[in-house]
Amino acid sequence: MRSIQFKGVSKKFGDEQVLKDFSLNVPAGKFFALLGPSGCGKTTLLRLIAGFDHVDSGKIYLGDQDITEVPSNRRSVNTVFQNYALFPHMTVFDNVAYPLSIRGIDKDVSLQKVMKILRSVRLRAHAHKYIDQLSGGQQQRVALARAMINEPDVLLFDEPLAALDVHLREKMLVELIDLQDKLKTTFIYVTHDQSEALTVADQMAIMNYKGEIEQMGTPEEIYEFPKTSFVAQFVGASNFISGDFVSQEAQTVVIDVPLLGSFQAQVTKKGQIVKRDDIVLMSVRPEKICISKQSLVGFSNHVEGIVESIVYNGRSTLYHVRLKNDLMIQVFEQNEEHFTQEVIEYDDHVHLYWQKNNVVLLDR
Ligand code: ATP
Repeated sequence: MRSIQFKGVSKKFGDEQVLKDFSLNVPAGKFFALLGPSGCGKTTLLRLIAGFDHVDSGKIYLGDQDITEVPSNRRSVNTVFQNYALFPHMTVFDNVAYPLSIRGIDKDVSLQKVMKILRSVRLRAHAHKYIDQLSGGQQQRVALARAMINEPDVLLFDEPLAALDVHLREKMLVELIDLQDKLKTTFIYVTHDQSEALTVADQMAIMNYKGEIEQMGTPEEIYEFPKTSFVAQFVGASNFISGDFVSQEAQTVVIDVPLLGSFQAQVTKKGQIVKRDDIVLMSVRPEKICISKQSLVGFSNHVEGIVESIVYNGRSTLYHVRLKNDLMIQVFEQNEEHFTQEVIEYDDHVHLYWQKNNVVLLDR
């Protein structure tokens, strides 16, 4: 179990500055997900950890060990690639045994180790097969077994499930979580799929287009308390409403939005003060909003609008509601009670309600 640390790392490709004075601490023994838009530098980070690329300046540590100049084959790190990079002319057994044979490990020891790891990824019965005789999920598990055979301190995953269909991907995610839980190896999992990151991670970091860490925390912290509009939008969907600060009493802030009226928001940290003369940006998740044609009581916030689109999705329905100030609000409703649920149609005049503690005040 070892951590990975980037300290002031910069990396350029030609004129393109991908990382600038970049620092990150990936805790030991955790399932860590790195999430960010395409091209933000996620794979570059993995390649720097693996030693396939080299920093222009700064340091990378594996635990206490400075590995910045250590060649890739001498780092206790292994990678599971998206395309698996398996040897098609070798059997499952030989693919997994390959890293041991390079190290000259004794055949009997190797046999035992390979069979043990194949058991843990449920491939023992397929040991004799060639790669093209396996399903996509099985190939993925061979890649995983091969990456784990040398018991690295850190396993790197570069979008490992991207080639699998949705059902298999969900199954593999659960298997990966179980495996990490058993091994306690530090897993660093790169993806641009936010639901994948939220599912697997103990800790996650969100990178922005400039290759900077925008926020780091548990999936719950990131989802429930995004710090910036970038994070609120990138991880899940969010509605943004900006208004003028009116007052703050204890944890409740009152905000005035022209044409819509007054709103309440609860600051997330005790003692947090919103700047008096500031424009305030509120973020509200679509699933935190209640939609109804009726007037309801008991909510701290209320607006009215017209339904402009309805997307039925089996489990849930997504509404787009246009407010008086032309702002479009998304509302996400679970389809729990098909027969008793109120019928809402296009062009209906609706009320939207949400509680003040479901509003996140963002750094602008
Ligand atoms: P994706 O999610 O699309 O895989 P990413 O976040 O993993 O993207 P990287 O592959 O790290 O992004 O690339 C970051 C930037 O660095 C991109 O603009 C890319 O074009 C550039 N880049 C990466 N590797 C090289 C290279 N070997 N030569 C030149 N430019 C490169």
